[in-house]
Amino acid sequence: MQEAIEDKLKRRYRVFEDPESLLTENWPTPLLKLSKVSDETHEVWAKLEFYNPFSHSIKDRAIWNMFRKALEKGLHFDKLYEATSGNVGIALVALSNIYGKKFRAFIPKGTPETTEILLKVLGAEVVRTEFEVIDRTFIEYVKKKAAEDKALNLNQFENDANFEAHYNYTSLELLKQLEVLGKKPKCIIAGVGTSGHIAALAARFKETFYDVKVVGVEPSPGNKIPGIKRIETRPKWIAHVKIDEVVDVRSREAIEGAIEIARLEGILIGLSSGAVYQAFKKIRDKYGPGTYILIFPDDAFKYIEEFREYLKPRTTFNY
Ligand code: PMP
Repeated sequence: MQEAIEDKLKRRYRVFEDPESLLTENWPTPLLKLSKVSDETHEVWAKLEFYNPFSHSIKDRAIWNMFRKALEKGLHFDKLYEATSGNVGIALVALSNIYGKKFRAFIPKGTPETTEILLKVLGAEVVRTEFEVIDRTFIEYVKKKAAEDKALNLNQFENDANFEAHYNYTSLELLKQLEVLGKKPKCIIAGVGTSGHIAALAARFKETFYDVKVVGVEPSPGNKIPGIKRIETRPKWIAHVKIDEVVDVRSREAIEGAIEIARLEGILIGLSSGAVYQAFKKIRDKYGPGTYILIFPDDAFKYIEEFREYLKPRTTFNY
């Protein structure tokens, strides 16, 4: 009894006994009403996944669950290898540090330097490969390297603990948050990477609300938006759920979406979040009045290089 009261007080006053509980005891991540984006007909709420402590992204959840499941299975490993272009690597090296393991990140050729520096600050060994993107060949390459060196490859693209993290945690949290608000969602909009979070949200929400729409967001052909991929790369879990529509967003639109949210709401979101916001604008009239949920996977701080490029040709008098 006394212990339960102490735990409640710790939570209330945000006292955490160790770094892992900074993740798990910190949930739910905030659900924020976008007050300027919302109007009389469309109420828009954003789930701010950058409130996760390690990678400041939604990926902390999936990595934590995959890591935990590996430990629970009694797998013996002292090093981990993973193909990653950012958030997964950062979350993985953070958890590796907590559990006293070594981590090697295999990153695609064009990974921003900011990501590499953050990985190295955390003590990861970084292998910058010649692969342009994380595709099947790259995933197989890392799998093989891990097998050769007896390292554990959690493999975020195929590991069901990824989907499960969002089915058991992200989606349930969001359901509770909407229950508190007394709102029934009209539409949930999320980016597609491994498809872990969008597929879990679709599965959980369509079980609960038969008419909720789930909209995916992918980069337009020939465009790159960090963290999300085109649906034809066949991410694992999305094939098992019903997605109502997938909206294409260009890289430039994603950046502009992030800038627009920053200037409207004062919140610095990342590029896939900017893409999710742009997708909302593209579908809002078609889907009509109601409560819209936007999943914002991370914040702006890893994308300084992209923002710098975008802002370059403009001179200060534009602002
Ligand atoms: N946005 C960002 C910034 C990400 O890092 C990721 C993960 N790759 C996603 C979106 C997509 O998430 P998921 O892997 O769950 O599809």
